[in-house]
Amino acid sequence: MFDLLRRRHAPVDLTATAEAAARSGLPAVALKGCGRRYGSGTVAVDALRNVDLEVWPGEFVVFLGPSGSGKTTLLNLIGGIEQATSGIVTVAGADIAGLDERGRTLYRRDRVGFVFQFFNLVPTLTALENVQLLAELTGPDAEARSRDALARVGLAEVADRFPGALSGGQQQRVAIARALVKEPPLLLCDEPTGSLDLETGRQVLSVLRDLAREGHHTVLLVTHNSVIAHMADRVVRLHSGRIASDEKIGAPVEAEVLEW
Ligand code: ADP
Repeated sequence: MFDLLRRRHAPVDLTATAEAAARSGLPAVALKGCGRRYGSGTVAVDALRNVDLEVWPGEFVVFLGPSGSGKTTLLNLIGGIEQATSGIVTVAGADIAGLDERGRTLYRRDRVGFVFQFFNLVPTLTALENVQLLAELTGPDAEARSRDALARVGLAEVADRFPGALSGGQQQRVAIARALVKEPPLLLCDEPTGSLDLETGRQVLSVLRDLAREGHHTVLLVTHNSVIAHMADRVVRLHSGRIASDEKIGAPVEAEVLEW
């Protein structure tokens, strides 16, 4: 862990890497026969069963399902936080189940941006410093990249404020900037609007939607709020650990018109 933090960075162009992955012709994410079982014997729980899924670069996919249907487990498998107990998970053509511990750490650090319901900002660091913390792990020019990420989510003006002086929506946008500063091909969002009011929720969704439209970020968003599905390119419904339906949305609406 600490040697990773101390590692010197070669000046890699993260945007170019993400763009190359998007042009590769490979799915951004592919799951084949994936299962995740917790426990064993009579107390075993199959959180996911035999899931097949392909997601393409630049797609904005919403995963819907009731509590306990396996949504978070699915994101965790794709994000390298957990390992499938059966099947294969590939990201941009690479089998992530085949990675060792260090490989998985690097994968999570360099290739995946996570956005959660709770923003988890460090309260004693400014917005800029919160983003910079992650930027420093993933390449050179951390301050410039962090300012750029904050500008992309519309927060250039408040970069030097502490989280306590920001609204909930602004804090979530700092969290998105922090995920985005690595230019991750994959952005995994678990109930990102779960603790926001309607208006700030819409702002956050609009930022995520714009990122997918840039073409080299693939956004996977888990929620139990079915209204959000109307703005997706595609909606995947989960039920009892299985994919119950997988539907392309012909004419997604803008986040600004959603009501819940
Ligand atoms: P969702 O995100 O749709 O609410 P989860 O993926 O969190 O669903 O959970 C799916 C199922 O797996 C649930 O029955 C849950 O209780 C079970 N589960 C999730 N994580 C664990 C764990 N670490 N140990 C045991 N069971 C778990």
